[in-house]
Amino acid sequence: MNWAEKDKAYIWHPFTQMKLAGEAIHIERAEGCYLYSSNGDQYLDGISSWWVNIHGHAHPYIAEKIAQQCLQLEHVIFAGFTHTPAIKLAEKLLALLPGSFSKVFYSDNGSTAVEVALKMALQYWYNKGEIGKTKIIAFEDAYHGDTFGAMSVGARSVFTAAFQELLFDVVHIPLPSDDNIDQCTEMLQQMTSKGDVAAFIFEPLVLGAAGMKMYKPEHLDMLLAVAKRNGVLCIADEVMTGFGRSGKNFAIEHLVHRPDIICLSKGITGGFLPLSVTICTEDIYQAFYSDEATKALFHGHSYTANPVACAAALASMEILTQPETQQQIRLIAQEHHSFLQNIKDHPFIKGARQTGTILALEIKTTENTSYFNLIRDDAYNFCLGKGVLLRPLGNIIYFMPPYCITQTELQLVYGVIIDMLHYLQEKYT
Ligand SMILES: *Cc1c(COP(=O)(O)O)cnc(C)c1O
Repeated sequence: MNWAEKDKAYIWHPFTQMKLAGEAIHIERAEGCYLYSSNGDQYLDGISSWWVNIHGHAHPYIAEKIAQQCLQLEHVIFAGFTHTPAIKLAEKLLALLPGSFSKVFYSDNGSTAVEVALKMALQYWYNKGEIGKTKIIAFEDAYHGDTFGAMSVGARSVFTAAFQELLFDVVHIPLPSDDNIDQCTEMLQQMTSKGDVAAFIFEPLVLGAAGMKMYKPEHLDMLLAVAKRNGVLCIADEVMTGFGRSGKNFAIEHLVHRPDIICLSKGITGGFLPLSVTICTEDIYQAFYSDEATKALFHGHSYTANPVACAAALASMEILTQPETQQQIRLIAQEHHSFLQNIKDHPFIKGARQTGTILALEIKTTENTSYFNLIRDDAYNFCLGKGVLLRPLGNIIYFMPPYCITQTELQLVYGVIIDMLHYLQEKYT
């Protein structure tokens, strides 16, 4: 069997209907913004490989730090034992984050970071003897991951239909906009004034998987003010927006109010290794800190705080905080902004939006906006054919490149997007 046949024979790919899927593209190596396939094609990675890669592929500095760490300490159980990379990373994260976060809890992907946050919030109230405080509030279109707790707080859709009965009840509120912000705050006020709400979980500024839906920091601040006034814990899921995506290191830096818990993953290791953190305030930590063993947070994973992943994260953060990287983030944001001004009145565009390094265009369709939109496959294939990897969410085309992308490469991708719009318009109108 060749590689393609073996792939088909042995592998079940994520988010993929295997019967309908074409052959997966076999990537042999990658460097900077580019993926190189085994049959000689190259693709500019316009989605940072599912939003994880922030400094470009195979970054030599991160690779070197990983290699060094592998020869020093590859892994050790994290209960009863500790190590320097985990301590250093926690210290660095706490220093870089705004607000008064206090403790870092490690896990290994965005979904588990969210599970940990939910368990922290629920047990916080339980440990305090507030037994009835178990309700969670989330946005209607939210995406927080694929495990059961994370699915429960996410949107109900075809993705969760098979598990519907098994998901715990969550109260969903609409995403705020200029039109409904008063209703949203009123709704939240009513829900949270009864005293049975444990937490409000949200993706700050951008709802990623929902189709890069964006909302104003002022609106989120208004909701946070209500939640805080009524003693509801606030959980910021920055799994996607963290580490520069929003134009600032963290999206919560655009806010006045601070969450009690923040979840980070995806960009944390620069896209090298799975790692995540759930970071909380001292107040939350204190509800678990006790002479009673039963008040502990009984959660952990085999690879909790893997030293190699922590070393990668430390290297990635070093690169992130360098002035050149910060300048690159500003450049991408500016270029996106200019492109948006040019494209927003395009007859085939229904809406165009941007937050920092994330650009999203909503294509006009007669069908409803949905993941299964035909346009999606056409757009995806067209761009791949032009050597650019963009993976639309339904009819939402988005572009969020690694920060090492050059101005020329940005222009190249904008050009492909314009050509793609032209192609789709010809085909569908
Ligand atoms: C991707 C994502 C998750 C889930 O992270 P995984 O590492 O894929 O489990 C959670 N929340 C948000 C906002 C995400 O974008």
